[in-house]
Amino acid sequence: MVIVMKKGATEAQIASVIQRVEDLGYQAHLSRGEERTIIGIIGNDRPLVDHPLARLDGVESIVPILHPFKLASRDFHPEDSVVSIDSVAVGGERVIVMAGPCAVESREQLWEAAVVVKESGAAVLRGGAFKPRSSPYSFHGLGQEGLELLAEVRLALGLPVVTEVMSPAEVALTIRHADILQIGTRNMQNYALLQEVGRSGHPVLLKRGMMSTIEELLLSAEYILAQGNHKVILCERGIRTFDVKYTRNTLDIAAIPVIKKLSHLPVVVDPSHGTGNWEYVGAASRAAVAAGADGLLIEVHPHPEKALSDGAQSLRPEAFAQLMVELRLVAQAVGRTL
Ligand code: PEP
Ligand code: MN
Repeated sequence: MVIVMKKGATEAQIASVIQRVEDLGYQAHLSRGEERTIIGIIGNDRPLVDHPLARLDGVESIVPILHPFKLASRDFHPEDSVVSIDSVAVGGERVIVMAGPCAVESREQLWEAAVVVKESGAAVLRGGAFKPRSSPYSFHGLGQEGLELLAEVRLALGLPVVTEVMSPAEVALTIRHADILQIGTRNMQNYALLQEVGRSGHPVLLKRGMMSTIEELLLSAEYILAQGNHKVILCERGIRTFDVKYTRNTLDIAAIPVIKKLSHLPVVVDPSHGTGNWEYVGAASRAAVAAGADGLLIEVHPHPEKALSDGAQSLRPEAFAQLMVELRLVAQAVGRTL
């Protein structure tokens, strides 16, 4: 539930409401908006009618949060959340482009990719070191060596890094090398992993499960938030539908405004896995920015024909550079920068 404070509620009144909430054994989450201050409470199971907190000075009303996700809900936190990674703010005015290869394959490949994405204006470098692959015989990434290469490039180019973690055991190592922990589509409902990245306090990019609903995505985010980690970025990356002949997944563009309405968390779109074909990545990216995405996660490979994973959906550097020019125009048209 949330306690809505009266318009001119004083600091003393706010502090005393928080104190009362904590005395009752609940956790209070303060959220200051331009208009109103609200205090969210998790764990209250008393009926709201005639609730003792409603009678405290400065309180206007008590409202239930009807969604099953609470901390992720916009009722709980009416303003947009911004997740900051060094100087990069995800969820602010600037659309944040995260780009790089699907997997880190070698020092040369990563450097080549990182330099070109940075030159074209990407704000974050992506690259997988632990790769979840549908086949046990496919390339599974360089593991720790891949993380070390990412850290090397991050330091030299000053680009924050996003990379996937697949198990709780990888979290401690990965936070030493990367800025954002990616939870892949296959692990969106790996609750032990969600809790571990929650405990780490590190920024998290949570991808939507390929067969998950928006509500399930928000409930997975809730697992991370419930550990006290509020640095959660959501990612729409396409879902499995009946049409798999021409596209790998069906990119759910409508999920962007829907999530924006339901939640305060930033939303990033992955047009690479969303389409599975580099030819459609541009259109999907432009649509995502136009629909209000706070960022994009795009696969770029210096030589896609030689890629060890996801070459078919990876943009060449020139195509990425051209796309960035187009995206700047779309961003501008919807009141954003890029
Ligand atoms: C990836 O980003 O390379 C990846 C494996 O993504 P997803 O989990 O969405 O398939
Ligand atoms: Mn990939």
